[in-house]
Amino acid sequence: MQFIETRGNDGKNPASVSFSEAILSPSASFGGLYVPQSLPAIDRAFLEKHMTSHYKTLAMDYLDTFGIDIDKDVVQVALDRYDAFDDPKNPVPLSEIEEDCCVAELYHGPTRAFKDMALQPFGYILSKLAQQRDENYLIMAATSGDTGPATLETFKNQPNVKVACLYPDGGTSDVQRLQMVTEDAPNLKVIGVKGNFDDTQHTLKELLASADFKAELEAKHIKLSAANSVNFGRIIFQIIYHIHSYLEMVRRGKIAMGEKIYLVVPSGNFGNALGGYYAKKAGLPVEKILISSNINNILTDWIEKGEYDLTNRELIMTESPAMDILKSSNIERIMFDKFGAARTKELMESLAQNGKFILSEAEKQSLQEDFSASYSDDTECENEIARYAQKGYIMDPHTATCIKAYETLREKPLPTVIYSTAEWTKFSPTVAKALGHPAEGDVEALKWVTEHTNVTVPPMIDALFEKPIVHTIVVEKEAIKGEMLSFL
Ligand SMILES: *Cc1c(COP(=O)(O)O)cnc(C)c1O
Repeated sequence: MQFIETRGNDGKNPASVSFSEAILSPSASFGGLYVPQSLPAIDRAFLEKHMTSHYKTLAMDYLDTFGIDIDKDVVQVALDRYDAFDDPKNPVPLSEIEEDCCVAELYHGPTRAFKDMALQPFGYILSKLAQQRDENYLIMAATSGDTGPATLETFKNQPNVKVACLYPDGGTSDVQRLQMVTEDAPNLKVIGVKGNFDDTQHTLKELLASADFKAELEAKHIKLSAANSVNFGRIIFQIIYHIHSYLEMVRRGKIAMGEKIYLVVPSGNFGNALGGYYAKKAGLPVEKILISSNINNILTDWIEKGEYDLTNRELIMTESPAMDILKSSNIERIMFDKFGAARTKELMESLAQNGKFILSEAEKQSLQEDFSASYSDDTECENEIARYAQKGYIMDPHTATCIKAYETLREKPLPTVIYSTAEWTKFSPTVAKALGHPAEGDVEALKWVTEHTNVTVPPMIDALFEKPIVHTIVVEKEAIKGEMLSFL
């Protein structure tokens, strides 16, 4: 399988690259992204073949049909990372919350958010590729709380890769901060930045653009890659769990093989939803993908109105911070798939220059064939958390945005899968508040929720409060470059 570019080719980059090249150097011509030239079919024969398969067997077979240029034994060890999830036989369990609705829990990995689903195997593969080529890579991450811990966890002690992770000091939950600052390995650097997530991300972009930083990397023979969802190496693993969730619905007798379902995806950078879109396009029987957001509802406007307008918006901090995003990177891959490279380049350049773009009526309709969208504010989310807690199911605030989408966007009475992207333990103060007990911090909130509901705190979260803090640096934005150079 070869990979092509969403904004066309500039004559300097190769016209197409292999999977390994696309993941080692994820930026394409004109600032575009890499996408697969075609998608292998997820047809009835493929689904029936995997009715009783282990998750890893399904994954291996899917990656095989994709024809990625990674040795099979490397892929196998990468997939073995799922053995460390709560249930090695089923890393993504489904919980029924309504007769026709199940929650697919993507958070049973080491850092308790769905980022582990892709980053766990991806980290092993990237490091292995770097070793095979005798190259060294730096991964820089600015995080609002979930990407950072998952990136550090997957790369810790992996040869030929270093990770530098910037987080906004005071802008994450206690659990998220502890997951980063207690991560002890010589190839990891974690820096708290005084400011909010926007400041942190901006600082990272400045650093990546600065000439002396680039020169320093070159002098040290260090190449830059990325571990966010602009990297297709993450997206490919995010197609697999949509197939798994469909098969689970068949196994549970919720649908017969071939019947359609709805998927509800709480979205930010649209990587999770893109995986669902590719699965649907390849043949998975999905009626529509329902996109849920918080009040940073730019994706709702994109899908409902065909407008993407940053000019009259400011990022608003919410209780679902992983979705506090205005520039959603993977919508570009959807638009490429539907409208082609020339139009995608035009739309993305309009966004960069004018802060907005508007789709034609026909383009908007094409988008609405696959997607519908809605959003919930914090109060609505807290109400849903409380309502489902009454019924015995505890969900995190990101997952809670899905309930309105499930209740209002379905045009047909088809069974539905909601994706749960984080465990409640990462956002326990919000959950405690929703249940009527505003807590001082994570320790008190975790304790109160476990005492008043049927859930427990997993050992890796409990252990965080005992682990020594190894990364103590919190600096002003201006001091980051110096910190980075000393780390390298
Ligand atoms: C990253 C994240 C999301 C958003 O996922 P995208 O693939 O970026 O759309 C949603 N919820 C949680 C908890 C996350 O960590």
